[in-house]
Amino acid sequence: MTYAVKECFLTLQGEGVQSGSRAVFLRFAGCNLWSGREQDRATAQCNFCDTDFVGTDGTGGGKFADAHGLADHVSAMWGTEEAHRLVVITGGEPMLQLDAALVEALHDHGFRVAVESNGTIEAVPGIDWLTISPKAGTDVVQRRGNELKLVWPQQGIDPTALETWDFGHFLIQPMDCADAQAAMDAAIALAMDRPKWRLSLQAHKVVGLP
Ligand code: SF4
Repeated sequence: MTYAVKECFLTLQGEGVQSGSRAVFLRFAGCNLWSGREQDRATAQCNFCDTDFVGTDGTGGGKFADAHGLADHVSAMWGTEEAHRLVVITGGEPMLQLDAALVEALHDHGFRVAVESNGTIEAVPGIDWLTISPKAGTDVVQRRGNELKLVWPQQGIDPTALETWDFGHFLIQPMDCADAQAAMDAAIALAMDRPKWRLSLQAHKVVGLP
């Protein structure tokens, strides 16, 4: 299988329970909920995306002919440190490309494999940390994982209905949008009203990391 990678770089994980952890960020190209073109945003199933996932032209991006080649690339980004190896695989929608061969190749390099998905495609086995971020109006088939991260507010999603899903952590994250303060207020209000949800901020944006 050939993998199309938008970008790949070493950073600190900025979101969720593992926020602050050193990690290689591997962003796959492509998403099943939006083309990534601005002219399609208004009619897309997901229209609040803050990510460029089109093409393979980002830092450390490219096309990789097989799982071992991509795992070697990720490992080179991490460097020689043997302990606490973490790769965060995102997109776009990573489940369009992630397969068991790549998970295994990354494990062979000693990585814990974290994945952030919109949940509309069932996750492959072997993932060590699975984050699902549901989008309104979509059919979420992956209702089990480590953390559920709900970008808020979103019309058409009832957080109380998600509370029965099988996740260890329920995170509410203010939407990165034109009215950021209103989104923050709405997220705080939800966390205050329903304590199962914990406020989660995009720390990488606060500290100026990519
Ligand atoms: S599902 Fe995720 S990657 Fe795809 S358009 Fe929405 S926010 Fe962007």
